[in-house]
Amino acid sequence: MAERKPLISGNWKMHHNHFEAIQMVQSLSYQLNPDDYNVCDVSVHPPFTDLRSIQTVLESDHIPISLGAQHCHEEEKGAYTGEVSGGMLQKLNVKLVIVGHSERREIFGESNGQINSKVKAIFKHGMTPILCVGETIEEREEGKAETKVRTQLEEGLQGIGRERIGAMVVAYEPIWAIGTGATATPEDAQNMCAHVRESIKSIAGNGPAETIRIQYGGSVKPVNAAELMSQKDIDGALVGGAALEAESFARIIQYRLH
Ligand code: PEP
Repeated sequence: MAERKPLISGNWKMHHNHFEAIQMVQSLSYQLNPDDYNVCDVSVHPPFTDLRSIQTVLESDHIPISLGAQHCHEEEKGAYTGEVSGGMLQKLNVKLVIVGHSERREIFGESNGQINSKVKAIFKHGMTPILCVGETIEEREEGKAETKVRTQLEEGLQGIGRERIGAMVVAYEPIWAIGTGATATPEDAQNMCAHVRESIKSIAGNGPAETIRIQYGGSVKPVNAAELMSQKDIDGALVGGAALEAESFARIIQYRLH
């Protein structure tokens, strides 16, 4: 069975200006030690306006945290007021890009087709997508969670090669658990992450299903991180609220010690 190094990612959403972001990332790095990075990959996903500042801090202080973005446009360049391309992110040494977050799908109306184009643009620029999938509470109650997630994966990954799928990250995030304080039980989270892996198996085959990293996201906190992370098919966490403060994010990254 493939060894999958966990990836814990902090999605800061529209929080922290670049001054606050610098302070946060420095404080986070003081709390982490080489052992933490040996057993766990870490990424931070600040707002676009912070990226250059955080890149400078990470690189000049040799902090082994990957720089991530929260979104990108699928086109290379053009008349897309307010948007940022994959090429622009690559120039900032961004390594991971969140794509298809439920807030982008619900508030900004992103479709699976558009998300698929973004996944391709992210790969084209040598970065790794973190593709978010997940169901609403209504879909869960109607027994449609698995079908919803399967469709998001099939349509979001259309035309992507097996090797690339095996190297990417999927974040299973039940929408009803995001920012609500309601976490999926470890068993529910495991079942859905196993379903993601099964779906990847039928889309891309055994190899990619073994190597792809699957994160759980939805009110992950220091108190529940260890139990979620101990599940067989959970290879990391995508963390919103609890990643905004250095101490709580560090405690999640050090879940094995608690
Ligand atoms: C998220 O932003 O993807 C998320 C899971 O947020 P929270 O941890 O606050 O629920």
